[in-house]
Amino acid sequence: MRSPTFREKIKFNRCDADLIGFEQREDWKMELPIYRFKCKKHGIQVDYEHGYNRALHCKACDNELTEETAREKQHIEPPETLVIKLF
Ligand SMILES: [Zn+2]
Repeated sequence: MRSPTFREKIKFNRCDADLIGFEQREDWKMELPIYRFKCKKHGIQVDYEHGYNRALHCKACDNELTEETAREKQHIEPPETLVIKLF
């Protein structure tokens, strides 16, 4: 990761996160800005922007969501019990 220049700091400024640098990865077409931000639940996180809405993801929140989805998939509905009406 390389440090941002002063000009980049202004250009890539976000009100909800601090630009900490730029990173180039093999599967990325170009360098992406890396931000440090605060997750209300998990504290300080570092991530790059995702998609057109430039969303920053907290990995801990993502993991929790993945686990939840996995649990939901594992959950099998019990067979419908026979209800005997007394009245
Ligand atoms: Zn989080």
